Amino acid sequence: MNQADDLWQDFSKPIVTADDYFSSLRGRDMNVFFMGERVSEPVDNAVIWPSINAMAETYRLATERPELGGVRTEVRGRPVNRFLHVPATSDDILNKHEMQRELGRRTGTCFQRCVGLDALSACHSVTFDIDAQAGTEYHARFLKFLSRAQEANVVIGGAMTDPKGDRSKPPHQQIDPDLFLRVVKRDEKGIYVSGAKAHQTGAVNSHWLIFMPTMRMTEADRDWSVVGAVRVDSPGLTYIVGRQTNDTRILDGGPMDAGNAQFAGQEALIVFEDVFVPFEHVFMDGEWSHAATLVERFTTYHRSSYVCKTGLGDVLIGAAATAADHNGVENVSHIKDKLVEMTHLNETIYSSCVAGAAKSKKLPSGAQINDEMLSNVAKHNVTRFPFEISRLAQDIAGGLVVTMPSEKDLQNNEIGPLVRKFLGTKEGLDVTDRMRILRLIENMTIGRNAVGYLTESLHGAGSPQAQRIQIARGMQAEMKKALAKKLAGTKSSSKES
Ligand SMILES: Cc1cc2nc3c(=O)[nH]c(=O)nc-3n(C[C@H](O)[C@H](O)[C@H](O)COP(=O)(O)OP(=O)(O)OC[C@H]3O[C@@H](n4cnc5c(N)ncnc54)[C@H](O)[C@@H]3O)c2cc1C
Ligand code: SF4
Repeated sequence: MNQADDLWQDFSKPIVTADDYFSSLRGRDMNVFFMGERVSEPVDNAVIWPSINAMAETYRLATERPELGGVRTEVRGRPVNRFLHVPATSDDILNKHEMQRELGRRTGTCFQRCVGLDALSACHSVTFDIDAQAGTEYHARFLKFLSRAQEANVVIGGAMTDPKGDRSKPPHQQIDPDLFLRVVKRDEKGIYVSGAKAHQTGAVNSHWLIFMPTMRMTEADRDWSVVGAVRVDSPGLTYIVGRQTNDTRILDGGPMDAGNAQFAGQEALIVFEDVFVPFEHVFMDGEWSHAATLVERFTTYHRSSYVCKTGLGDVLIGAAATAADHNGVENVSHIKDKLVEMTHLNETIYSSCVAGAAKSKKLPSGAQINDEMLSNVAKHNVTRFPFEISRLAQDIAGGLVVTMPSEKDLQNNEIGPLVRKFLGTKEGLDVTDRMRILRLIENMTIGRNAVGYLTESLHGAGSPQAQRIQIARGMQAEMKKALAKKLAGTKSSSKES
């Protein structure tokens, strides 16, 4: 048995249902910390659990709606979960985006499984390209890994972002070489990597991680030009789960103040200390000139994956409309117009993601990839529109969204009746329904799930400037100037004419 066979032994039984998924996370010997304390069993941690439950929704969807959550390509007689299927046609990408919107609608948060899918999709073509150029065997190794992941139906995290230290310097010029993940040692069986990956979505909720470089590399950055896959419980890995706004509200007693007690996202800092990766799981090792292509393809896939936010937008528009109903202003013209504006912004995001899928193209490996320009435009929309949608939701909700008494006040014998009396609006409306909707708006616009709806929309898959750089590269200004000059009938031959 080789090293890789050994690592897959625990995954011989495929994970099918949400319960299978919860079981698969139990009893793992992982070094996880939250709020300065070791978490021995993340599934049993009340603050972490909603993020695990959001990931579990990807399994529920696949069993409830197999045509959306799965792909008919058969692997050993079973359909493949869509989160493990490298798109091969435009329809594959369109269906992926429909699935992402649906999961956003169901959870109202980041369901965390797309980074790994987009990492798989990027690795498919880049390993193929490296082999074609350098005669290496990365693609065959990758396909074997992919097939095993599909059979076991595991969750794969996508670990791209390094801590990066001084942003003006490449990896080899940093004060600490560990600020970018790198190869520190080699032996006859594999490589050892050290460093860290920051902001890792769903890291503790995953089974495997694919680590990749986060930017263009130079020849001097050869040791940092590394791609591979590791089990999340590999020796040498430490997870420090990030703090989210209002995350401990879930511990306060009742579920109401949490706003969305069922679902949340998760990010962690992952520290790698001499983590062993057998050669079977190494997909790039020193081929620095391919790092930029890998980053560009990953971001092209991932920027359109942010169609997920339209599902969250649907929830927030629904919450704002319900808050207006509760206040008796549902037929007021400016309220209706604000709901129209929110919908227009949300569907603008959707249309750019769908357009990028419809105009996708085939790569030499056979993988299909979104149109790069449209995908960057889509993500750039996402860096802005959810903020405006949130502003409008808060406008419609009124100030109570941030000043409302707590669920405990409601339960207090002395002041509970006062809260009910003065929060009442309409005949037949249960005051707690009004409070729940306002808490949901708070949750998504300034609370725990604003991490996913707002700041993740801003920085995830690259900060806004990263998209502007790609848009500038593809904007074809000279071609457009030539069009204008021809129609205007300009005479001068200089570029400045
Ligand atoms: C909620 C969330 C989830 C995420 N999930 C994942 C994940 O699962 N996997 C993953 O790999 N990553 C993930 N990320 C990371 C994400 O890709 C990064 O946040 C993003 O690339 C920006 O990097 P940074 O956060 O280090 O910001 P910084 O690099 O510190 O950027 C801050 C500002 O500085 C500017 N800047 C930075 N460097 C330069 C430069 N050289 N020149 C000019 N301007 C510069 C940026 O444009 C930005 O305006 C996640 C991020 C968030 C917020
Ligand atoms: S931000 Fe959206 S695309 Fe990224 S992992 Fe979360 S749900 Fe998926």
